Amino acid sequence: MNAARDILIVGGGIMGLSLALELSRRGASVTVLCRDFKQAAAHAAAGMLAPQAEGIPPSPMLDLCLRSRALYPEWVRKLEEITGVATGYWPCGILSPIYRTQKSVGAIHQLPLQQSQLSTWLDSDAIHKFQPGLGSDVIGGWWYPEDAQVDNRALAQALWAAAQQVGVDIREGVTVEAIEQQHGKVIGVETSVGLICAQHYVLATGAWSKQLLPVPIYPKKGQMLSVRVPSPTNGQGDKGQDTCTTTEDLPLPRVLYGSEIYIVPRQDGRIVIGATSEEVGFTPDNTPSGIQSLLAGAIRLYPELQDFPIQEFWWGFRPGTPDEMPILGTSTYENLTLATGHYRNGILLAPITALLLADLILQQTSDPLLNYFHYSRFEGL
Ligand SMILES: Cc1cc2nc3c(=O)[nH]c(=O)nc-3n(C[C@H](O)[C@H](O)[C@H](O)COP(=O)(O)OP(=O)(O)OC[C@H]3O[C@@H](n4cnc5c(N)ncnc54)[C@H](O)[C@@H]3O)c2cc1C
Repeated sequence: MNAARDILIVGGGIMGLSLALELSRRGASVTVLCRDFKQAAAHAAAGMLAPQAEGIPPSPMLDLCLRSRALYPEWVRKLEEITGVATGYWPCGILSPIYRTQKSVGAIHQLPLQQSQLSTWLDSDAIHKFQPGLGSDVIGGWWYPEDAQVDNRALAQALWAAAQQVGVDIREGVTVEAIEQQHGKVIGVETSVGLICAQHYVLATGAWSKQLLPVPIYPKKGQMLSVRVPSPTNGQGDKGQDTCTTTEDLPLPRVLYGSEIYIVPRQDGRIVIGATSEEVGFTPDNTPSGIQSLLAGAIRLYPELQDFPIQEFWWGFRPGTPDEMPILGTSTYENLTLATGHYRNGILLAPITALLLADLILQQTSDPLLNYFHYSRFEGL
């Protein structure tokens, strides 16, 4: 593969934009084709940077996630510097409470050694003191001080602005309909506005990737909602629209990651609650049962929020793979790179994906970790 300088990225979600920015900053000429920016899972996500709370066992996947988490502070600092857009990155830590159930108690003893070095077990007294307001059946939990969060919507906006500022040509509203190939090379992409050609191509179309290439990626729908912390009454029984001004005012200054539920407080007083995990194809919309299960789980974990005003409902599609790991690196076409299948951890994995794939595309240097994420692990499926 020759070093490519003229690169076309299909998909303008978090992967497409992060990689476009990295490639462009290294001198490449980059075009991004994006059918619908708002459709990207990047807007639907919770923004947790949670390799530990997610319980990923020691593995190349955990290594990838930890490397990406470590890149985050500097990565967002540069983004904010370029754009002036705050990303809401917040190294607030994640608390993972455990209920009085057989399954949960078992999990306490099964915590991998590597994780236990970066986490603290809090018993019943300690956890209720550390985080007042937890449900009464919480009997303890793990505290992961290095897990963090970012406001993924703000991050997506910052990436878009940064990519434009460094000269990436972003074409919103353009759908790629087919990838044209000849003799093992991509020769162009057929789009809603005609054929577009480049020297090198990247597939970064998230949950929709299988519509263009036979990769084993399927949508895993997630429903979400948000509430907001009510502002203190103003003496007339009124509840204001805008809420906390500093994180010290927040009743919940850290993420809660429970069993099939998480509660993610933003610094501006919003609280994001997620998420369902449904295999229903690309069926849109929120459903009563989806929202009911989220509300029940959230109120059990943190009863105080039952009286908080509801702000918004939404849903999105995670790009799932059979082993829940992304598909990264070279493809069957010598000039097409794969950057897809990030499933539940795409916000977390954006910086490392951009870094490793830019090295691969521009310098032909392949980090050894990439071998574990190659598409060929699925051959024969
Ligand atoms: C409910 C939910 C909660 C989540 N929470 C977290 C979390 O807390 N932490 C975390 O790390 N991750 C989380 N994720 C996962 C994360 O959002 C995804 O892994 C990540 O957004 C995937 O990025 P992507 O760029 O591959 O795809 P997307 O962000 O989905 O972007 C794909 C883009 O490609 C475009 N596209 C698709 N097909 C075409 C085509 N043919 N032509 C042109 N454009 C096309 C789409 O319009 C879209 O804009 C969550 C996801 C969901 C749904």
